[in-house]
This record gives sequence, C-alpha cells and structure tokens, in this order.
Amino acid sequence: MSFDRALGGRPGQRLYARARARLAERLTRLGVTDPRVLQALSDVPRHQLIPEALRDRAYADTPLPIGDGQTISAPSVVALMTQALELRGGESVLEVGTGSGYQAAVLSRLAERVVSVERIPRLASAARRRLDELRVANALVYLGDGTEGRPADGPFDAIVVTAGGPEVPPPLLEQLAPGGRLVGPFGQRGTQQLLRVRRGADGVLSREVIGQCSFVDLIGTHGWAA
Ligand code: SAH
Repeated sequence: MSFDRALGGRPGQRLYARARARLAERLTRLGVTDPRVLQALSDVPRHQLIPEALRDRAYADTPLPIGDGQTISAPSVVALMTQALELRGGESVLEVGTGSGYQAAVLSRLAERVVSVERIPRLASAARRRLDELRVANALVYLGDGTEGRPADGPFDAIVVTAGGPEVPPPLLEQLAPGGRLVGPFGQRGTQQLLRVRRGADGVLSREVIGQCSFVDLIGTHGWAA
C-alpha cells in the first residue's frame, strides 16, 4: 500500500517525496547500501510523524525534538540501525522507544510485524495516532518499560533499542530468537557505542561494535534511573 494514497495524494506531498528521494541519495553516500532500507526511507513520510512546526526540516539528516525532552533520530542513524538488523521481510521485530513512531513505520515496511514500546504516555498515544493515519497496520505501540521487552509477544527475530542504556537489558537478550539480531546504543549517559548482538542458531550470543553515537537516556528497570 502506498503512503501517498493514505494521504489522499495531495500535490504538496510531491515536494516531500522529492525531498525524500534526495535524502535517499545522501544515505547511499553515507553507506546505506541495502536497497530495501533505502526504499523504506524513501517511502515513509517523516514529515507526518514530527511536530508540524518542524516539517520544513523533516528530510534534513538531523535529529529533531518531539516533545517531553525526547528526539527523533537523524534519518541516517535510523537507516544504519535498520540496515544492521538485516531484515528480509518475515521477521517479528521489537522496538524499544517508539518516540515519534518513525522508526516503527520504517520497520513496518521491512518486516512482518512490529511491536514497539514507549514509556511516555503522550508520545505513545501520538505515535499510535500518526501510525493509524498512515494506515500502518502491522506495527503496534504499547505503553510500558521496554527494558523488560514484551515476553508475551516474543521471541523476536530482531530487536532495536532507540535510547541509550548502561548495558543490554537481559530480558531483551532472553527474548531474542536463535539467529536474531539486537541493535542499540549502550555505554555512558550522552555517549554510547552502537552494538549489534547476534544469537547464533546454536543459541550462543556474540557482540560487535558498529559505531559511536549519542542517544537520549533509556530509562527503566534495566536502564538508567528516571
Ligand atoms: N525510535 C524513535 C526515537 C525515539 S527517542 C523515533 O523513531 O522517533 C527514544 C525514546 O525512547 C523516547 O521517546 C523515550 O521516551 C523512550 N524510552 C526511554 N526509555 C524507555 C523505556 N525503558 N521503554 C520504552 N521507551 C523508552
């Protein structure tokens, strides 16, 4: 289903579509090579998921404030994290930190099912409303502490954590299926290493550092104290 149709095919949307195409070119130069990921970022209307006053900057490669002291990540960060999840289309994915719902909308194009958890009620309901407006039917937003995961919905083939925590929350590793990948920022408050943890088919975990980053705090039982 095309998002343009969900948006009523308004002419103004064409300008945004062009801005997204330029963004995709820029992402290619930054090392985003997975064609499915580039397509998803070309398809998802980021301007529809952020506060209206910021729409002009929707397709600049920059984080933006979304209220409650939180930010939507820069598109290149979303793209690189999504690429690192190595999605092929049939996966069940957990996202910790729904925020605007943008990452969830991107994931919804690349996997079968997305379960996203947000701890701030206002953000969770705004994201839910925006995903509904975009007719994203395969991404569900739950209010709660995402450091506990969603045991009832697991195990997950891929898990993305979009807030920075001190360490990988143990419940998330427990909910990672054999062959699964978890990607997220872990380290100090304000500066983290972007990690990818794989669970081999034999169940054994291995981790690699795939970048340096700076995310807002992951707050919860297995994150930082509020
Ligand atoms: N993925 C988001 C970016 C969100 S910023 C997007 O596409 O817009 C990080 C988000 O994580 C914030 O909204 C913050 O409230 C949320 N968060 C922090 N700790 C959390 C936790 N333990 N469980 C769920 N959400 C959490």
